[in-house]
Amino acid sequence: MYTEFQKHLQAELQSIREAGLYKNERVIVSPQSSGIKVDNNGKETEVINFCANNYLGLADNPELIKAAKERMDKRGYGMASVRFICGTQDTHKQLEKAISDFFGTEDTILYAACFDANGGLFEPLLTDEDAIISDALNHASIIDGVRLCKAVRYRYKNGDVADLEEQLKKAQEQRFRIIATDGVFSMDGNVCPLDKIYELAKKYNALVMVDESHSAGVVGKTGHGVTELYNLRGQIEIITGTLGKAFGGSVGGFTTGRKEIIDMLRQRSRPYMFSNSIPPMIAAAGLKTFELLTRDNTLQDRLHENTEYFVTRMKAAGFDIKPTQSAICAVMLYDARLSQEFAAALQDEGIYVTGFYYPVVPQGQARIRVQVSAAHTKEQLDKGVAAFVKVGKQLGVLA
Ligand SMILES: *Cc1c(COP(=O)(O)O)cnc(C)c1O
Repeated sequence: MYTEFQKHLQAELQSIREAGLYKNERVIVSPQSSGIKVDNNGKETEVINFCANNYLGLADNPELIKAAKERMDKRGYGMASVRFICGTQDTHKQLEKAISDFFGTEDTILYAACFDANGGLFEPLLTDEDAIISDALNHASIIDGVRLCKAVRYRYKNGDVADLEEQLKKAQEQRFRIIATDGVFSMDGNVCPLDKIYELAKKYNALVMVDESHSAGVVGKTGHGVTELYNLRGQIEIITGTLGKAFGGSVGGFTTGRKEIIDMLRQRSRPYMFSNSIPPMIAAAGLKTFELLTRDNTLQDRLHENTEYFVTRMKAAGFDIKPTQSAICAVMLYDARLSQEFAAALQDEGIYVTGFYYPVVPQGQARIRVQVSAAHTKEQLDKGVAAFVKVGKQLGVLA
């Protein structure tokens, strides 16, 4: 039975390799941090890490580790249940409360990942009488969540409010409408125009859903995300997010917003009802994260300073950087092969980055995406820029 299927898969895999699209996983042999050790054919090499979503440097934070260890000792390793059967501890409720307080929302529901939060969001709320108006560059998990729902789909060009308005006009035929957007788009680092989206939502009687995965902890003076940036705290009906990026870098996702929406998700959202509850230690470390981030603004300030420092120097060196309002700095190279050669040469210089090219970004838009962290020291940022300049000259990107 397997022989024919095996041949089919082998041929498919070979064509992925031949197209240069095969993804190899590089192996890290240290905690996740701004400085990491990678396995280089059996040899450990130290590199500066510029491609983690570890925006606030919390992935190896001692306070989070301590909170996780203590809670594991007190409350055990796993829940062995979904939330509504016997998988809810006080820690889960406390974390949901902390997330609501952070975003100024009414209630929060936890998921195993934000992929699940988005995947299980639309189907319980909307039917074929309703509409979802989705940004063209939304994350894969929003796209999948929309697919799982029977609502009529409309798509608008990335961040294009004129196009959004056109789609909203068409969507007046439906009963209810939800506009869905990422807060920060992960390939360019641009922020969604939430102020204008909100205005249009009022004008055309729509709800708004924002995925804050790359913006929460990062955007806004105190890192409270795009609703802080646009002064819309508490005004957005649905926010989704992850504990896997700025908020500690582990696992876990959430939807936070209007009370009845969250209540309906608890009753009907399939990834919540049919999937395990997050472990107590993860919930406890999550709780500690929100305590840290509301205690003072040190980490958020450092992230903003570091991003400004890095982007300014890269631009001054002559690199073509996509306009960014986040901790993502897209260094444009346009050519797929060049982006791969550039990333490999940087690794030889001790700088860990990833080159992105089609189909992850549009054809002819190849780039290296740098992600700045509060954990980067000035010395690490300087080394990063110096290596970019050296390789840039070697490969003819800089004059
Ligand atoms: C990373 C990301 C997700 C997925 O988050 P997980 O918790 O890792 O599943 C969802 N949406 C956006 C916009 C993301 O960037």
